[in-house]
Amino acid sequence: MNPWVILLLGAVSGIVLGVVATRSLRKTRDLPVPSIPETLASTTDPLRGIFIPGRNFPEMLERLGSDENLLDVILNGMHEGVLILNPADRIVLLNPSASRILGVKEEEALGKNYLEVVRHPGLVDLLALVKRDGKSQSGEIEMSGVEERVFAVNADGLRSKEGVTIGSIVVLADITSVKRLVKMRADFVANVTHELKTPLTAILGYVETLTDGAIDDAKNRKSFLQKIEAQSQRLNELITDVLELSRIESGRYIESLEPVSVRKTCQLAHDLLRSKAEVRKVSVECDIAEDFMVLAHEEGLLRVGVNLLDNAIKYSPEGGEVKVTAERDGEQIAMSVKDKGPGIPLESQSRIFERFYRVEASRNRRAGGTGLGLAIVKHLVERMNGEVIVESREGKGSTFTIVLPAA
Ligand code: ADP
Repeated sequence: MNPWVILLLGAVSGIVLGVVATRSLRKTRDLPVPSIPETLASTTDPLRGIFIPGRNFPEMLERLGSDENLLDVILNGMHEGVLILNPADRIVLLNPSASRILGVKEEEALGKNYLEVVRHPGLVDLLALVKRDGKSQSGEIEMSGVEERVFAVNADGLRSKEGVTIGSIVVLADITSVKRLVKMRADFVANVTHELKTPLTAILGYVETLTDGAIDDAKNRKSFLQKIEAQSQRLNELITDVLELSRIESGRYIESLEPVSVRKTCQLAHDLLRSKAEVRKVSVECDIAEDFMVLAHEEGLLRVGVNLLDNAIKYSPEGGEVKVTAERDGEQIAMSVKDKGPGIPLESQSRIFERFYRVEASRNRRAGGTGLGLAIVKHLVERMNGEVIVESREGKGSTFTIVLPAA
């Protein structure tokens, strides 16, 4: 489990455990409610009521003990589910999050044996271990409902200061999004590795052929070297895109926004891709009003324009036409790149912005490109407070529109 989650769980259960132990002790031994310490009672103290973990923790417990409402506020406001059992295994506390997670109403659960309420076998096993060994236990459980969710569970015995067991506590923290992120990262690493291996394997193959004798074949050696060059370029593009995507995601790429001309960006992108368009005999037109300015990042917007235009040219049939237009709608400007290429099937339209997703993997890999172009576009546009829209019909072409705040 992620060490941060363990730390968080430890801290949460530590606080709740301390608080509940203090409360239970007071109740069981019928101690008088302690008075608020001097430091907290003083109205001139600027830190009054502010608890600094590690500095005034004992005061915090005393204050919580003297103000049960505060404890209720904490338990009711916590995202983590908290479940407390007495020594006879009956539920004595179930906060609203625990009630939601376990799918049981508080009034139906209180006073019942936990086995009647907790239906998850993993959670039951964990509690059984705590009761048997008296040691804290942690683990992960999956709960299936409308959507599957994963929870980190921390269960422990609840002991008084004298070490007497006064029950058990379970804290449940939703770690579904953390798990999803970890999986996404793992998938990304697997995809990058696969994508890098393809050109590398080809390069190694050509080098081997050359060293095995093809180097003396004056007629063919140049073509082998050209293939090595092309695959090396592909490797370079991949690494550049991966690094760029990670820079954009980290927020280091776009630090500030400024007014940028939409028309100038389109013309610059066209200049950069002119030779590619000429080779493919694709005509490109930037039909954009001169005074259209958006609040953007100049280099970032150019990258967006180049990626969209590059795709439009790449997927257009030979002799095709690509048109870039812009429209103003109140405080926003929408720039569209329209082609008459093969179009994108409806079921793929929401997925083309994922890293390495390709509609037709082998055909599109041959067309060149890293499969990261649209992921870069989406991240850049979002960082510039805009959105990307795709409209496409198979066989009729595609239009990619980016909407940005007007400057
Ligand atoms: P790639 O480098 O493969 O072009 P992108 O992230 O730019 O990667 O695009 C993802 C996929 O979306 C492409 O592989 C292609 O299948 C599809 N796609 C993107 N733009 C177009 C377009 N203008 N016309 C048709 N398909 C497109």
